[in-house]
Amino acid sequence: MSEKIDPIRLAERSARLQGVFSLGDLGRLRELLVHTQGQVEYDLSFCLDKEGRRLIVGHVRAALPLICQRCLEPFEFPVDAEVTLCPVFTDSEAAALPVELEPCMMDEERQLCLTELVEDELLVRLPTSPRHPEPCGLLAPEFIEPREHDTPSSNPFAVLARLKT
Ligand SMILES: [Zn+2]
Repeated sequence: MSEKIDPIRLAERSARLQGVFSLGDLGRLRELLVHTQGQVEYDLSFCLDKEGRRLIVGHVRAALPLICQRCLEPFEFPVDAEVTLCPVFTDSEAAALPVELEPCMMDEERQLCLTELVEDELLVRLPTSPRHPEPCGLLAPEFIEPREHDTPSSNPFAVLARLKT
């Protein structure tokens, strides 16, 4: 699924695109998720700024099913990404943009793939080590009481007990 859009014409018409994609439609992101039941919502307005640059401004929102690296349980990582993109056609155009504008490279037909644009916004916001935003409901493995059959050498509490005496 690749929906091509023409950001230049959309900006000239002051168009607004709103919609949803299934997480399963996003091929690169999909690989990093626990499952693909869920959606990403996008709301993007196309406009011209004072300098006559075409901009894409709006939001991309999703709850991404990831594995918490603290408790190893799946959880939904919320993304509410504010987007300010400037479609460009060359690297030098991209380099000339002020820092607050993020370039987004158009293809040779000066078009953009909407799914890739939305997916890129989610990918750059994926944490390297995702964790529950609040303290995890479950205790982390190192705090779970050692089981009966654990050998003393594998039991960090045994070491602590020895240090105390
Ligand atoms: Zn957790």
